[in-house]
Amino acid sequence: MKIQKLARQEAQKIAAGEVVERPANIVKELIENSLDAGATHITLSVKQGGKTYLRIVDNGSGMSPEDAKICFERHTTSKIKTIAQLQDINTFGFRGEALASICSIAKVTITTKQDKALEGFELAIENGAIEKAKIVGAQTGTAITIKDMFYNVPARKKFLKTTITEWNHIVTLFKAFVLDNISVHFVLEHDDTTVYNCPPVKRVTDRILQLFQEPLTNHVTSLTTFKNNDIVVSGAVTTQHYARYDRRSIFFFVNNRWVKNYRLTSALTKGYLNVLPSGRYPAATIAITVNPKTVDINVHPKKEEIQFLNPRIVESAITAAVKTTLENQLSKHLKCTVTLAQEPAMPFYSEPLPMPPNPFPLKKKPLENPDIQEIPLPPKQEEPKTKEAPESEAQQNTVTRNYTLLSQYKKTYLLLEKNEGLFIVDQHAAHERILYERFARRFNEVATVRLLFPHSITVPASDIDLLEPHLELFLQHGIEVERSGKDQLAVKATPVFFKNQPINDLLTQTIGWIKELGALDPQDFHKKITEKLRAQMACKAAVKAGDVLTTETMEQLLDDLETTNNRFTCPHGRPTSWMLSLNDLERKFKRKL
Ligand code: ADP
Ligand code: MG
Repeated sequence: MKIQKLARQEAQKIAAGEVVERPANIVKELIENSLDAGATHITLSVKQGGKTYLRIVDNGSGMSPEDAKICFERHTTSKIKTIAQLQDINTFGFRGEALASICSIAKVTITTKQDKALEGFELAIENGAIEKAKIVGAQTGTAITIKDMFYNVPARKKFLKTTITEWNHIVTLFKAFVLDNISVHFVLEHDDTTVYNCPPVKRVTDRILQLFQEPLTNHVTSLTTFKNNDIVVSGAVTTQHYARYDRRSIFFFVNNRWVKNYRLTSALTKGYLNVLPSGRYPAATIAITVNPKTVDINVHPKKEEIQFLNPRIVESAITAAVKTTLENQLSKHLKCTVTLAQEPAMPFYSEPLPMPPNPFPLKKKPLENPDIQEIPLPPKQEEPKTKEAPESEAQQNTVTRNYTLLSQYKKTYLLLEKNEGLFIVDQHAAHERILYERFARRFNEVATVRLLFPHSITVPASDIDLLEPHLELFLQHGIEVERSGKDQLAVKATPVFFKNQPINDLLTQTIGWIKELGALDPQDFHKKITEKLRAQMACKAAVKAGDVLTTETMEQLLDDLETTNNRFTCPHGRPTSWMLSLNDLERKFKRKL
């Protein structure tokens, strides 16, 4: 065996593999070059998903013939001269590798003209070397045509995917560029048909209208900009009324560079916690601006991934921006002027609605069930005072409602007339959320009732073995349950609001969750199971679809919803309310176009 040095051309083809795997990678490099050249109009034409033909025409600065002759050689760049300059780079390119790589694996034609030049210059390149060069008539700017990708690297060619797959990659990339550069006119053509034509716009929300369709476009809102010394987060997102099963419509840009970063997506979805069901995603375009010194864009050869010096700052900024946006969005919908002297005194149980103002009203209520002896446990704690709560005004709540309650529909939905449209509330989902949030806030104040005759439940011994270490959890939720035999559980006390509920179901469900979640680390396990338990208790205790509610009860429920956190969805992620906007209504009846 003898070590041999690869021919320069062969080595180049291998190196190209790092940067160029598929047509979309070429498109990315070429559009970045056009943007770096100051283009304000960029047309991308694609045939067969880019596998046989790609052409990018820009109106940027163009190149001199001398520059054009060397631009496709390795390490030729006009963007940096020394490695030290890497730190404050604000163009996309800087390695001088892209054109070299592309020219080594495809047939390339470059036509370019600088503004002051009288004529353009055209080069045909094959196998990384100039085949032909000539003077031509041309517009200012650069046109690059790429034909027959991997014609000379069959091993890689066979990894190209179907036309539709490659095309989809290009479309996603194109959308990213369009979203991130709102003052550039972009056009995308496929097999000679114009697919997108996107003239410059003023706001990113208008870009979304150019690129996406209904229903997504009906639910877009500008992101409330988050800004401090370290970071600015801006963009547009869909509201709680829109969700999809994939993350493909989520775009992040860091200092104007499209990046894929799992943690950023998690931070975004965290902002939608309790608003979108888990496993559902919004559409979003989010621009993040940070000091370039605090990011490393060199972690990936295609510069698609990014590393932050301090990811936490970035993540919490994203989550905060989304939360504020959704909150603002909701208060637009459910706007009540609420002057609260104090957190409204809410009873800690739910039936019957409406809720009396005394948190422990059971003392005054006749006992309905003779085997229940009331014992409020534990003693009531001082109400936590909210900041804006001067004591003298305690209890002086004035709620100005900005809706007219029309009626209850199908014993399930509350219909509200509002200026902006018809607002529909799902009574069960809304009440579930109200109760859940209340539980989350003050379970330690829960009023429980001790059962005179403990309620006995038979459960397989192996299940009780699983459950036994977690009985404390039930106690924290007002349910006192003990093992009273090999396959017996005894329920000794339950929360007041839960007293008529079948505890068996809750116990067997919990056993199911323990089996399902057992693999989690203890902290996550505890968190998840607490959430599930509370959600389930809220669900059981909430008014049901089919319950007839009095006007008073409905108003109470709506007022409570107004002051509840995460009120867009029930704890299981279903929406609590929905607006049929006047606008949509008028369009349906063709009063408006
Ligand atoms: P990089 O972008 O890292 O500098 P490239 O290989 O992508 O490396 O491009 C090499 C050089 O070719 C660029 O630095 C630039 O000077 C020139 N160039 C490439 N594309 C264009 C274009 N569309 N308009 C003007 N100049 C271009
Ligand atoms: Mg480049």
